Amino acid sequence: MMNSRPRPLEGYAIELHGVRRTYGRGGSAVHALRGIDMRIPKGSFLAVMGPSGSGKSTFLQCAAGLDRPTGGTVRLGDVDITQLGEKRLTELRRSRVGFVFQSLNLLPSLTVLQNVVLPQRLAGLRPDRRAAARMLARVGLEGYGKRRPAQLSGGQQQRVAIARALITEPEVIFADEPTGALDSQTAREVLALLRHTVDELGATVVMVTHDPVAASYAHRVLFLADGLLAGELERPTPAAVADRMVALSGVAQERRAS
Ligand code: ADP
Repeated sequence: MMNSRPRPLEGYAIELHGVRRTYGRGGSAVHALRGIDMRIPKGSFLAVMGPSGSGKSTFLQCAAGLDRPTGGTVRLGDVDITQLGEKRLTELRRSRVGFVFQSLNLLPSLTVLQNVVLPQRLAGLRPDRRAAARMLARVGLEGYGKRRPAQLSGGQQQRVAIARALITEPEVIFADEPTGALDSQTAREVLALLRHTVDELGATVVMVTHDPVAASYAHRVLFLADGLLAGELERPTPAAVADRMVALSGVAQERRAS
């Protein structure tokens, strides 16, 4: 084969079956997710889009084990995380899931290297400074380990966050608007890096975004509307994603008006 990817990976990183999440009860209940079935193959880059209020954040929280669905199951690799108690779930999240958020949530008092090994500390593992230095080199920050986050640009800080998300070799990295706080050029560099971690390092990334350009870096885009899957797009282009979004917001507005 011509392809020199460091895989093949088989199976699914995440599987959702009939996932529902309802906030509140009775007449004031909000059905944020109404039954989501989804399989995310290992080694893929998935973007999740949808109009405001369509359930994207709730989806991410439930898929990542940060929130519990009201019904249905979520499997992370071979574990049904909806069956786990709080302690096991926290352990699993720390060792097998990575997070990159919009706000550049590095700890300002720690050095870059200390920030990168933080998930290992939290998971009760011995901090592997060499692995952290290698990870920093992979995200283009070789030699930056001794700096403080405030001495880096926004894009560099988000690269540190990606190195930190990768350090435990998680099964999935969840990214919530990871480029929302960056200018467009820096955003593109960070998105290219996320795509690189999938294509070259075999990571699995699930990214929530409202930006069609950001979504176009994924292999596949899933669209949510009113808590349900409303379509998907393979090999997305920014224009194709934007078209779908316009169509979806139109439908959402019509429903609200009727
Ligand atoms: P999105 O991320 O697509 O904007 P969310 O998942 O944040 O959508 O929200 C989906 C729906 O659930 C919205 O109607 C929102 O108001 C509601 N919702 C989200 N979180 C809560 C909560 N903690 N309590 C009550 N309603 C919520």
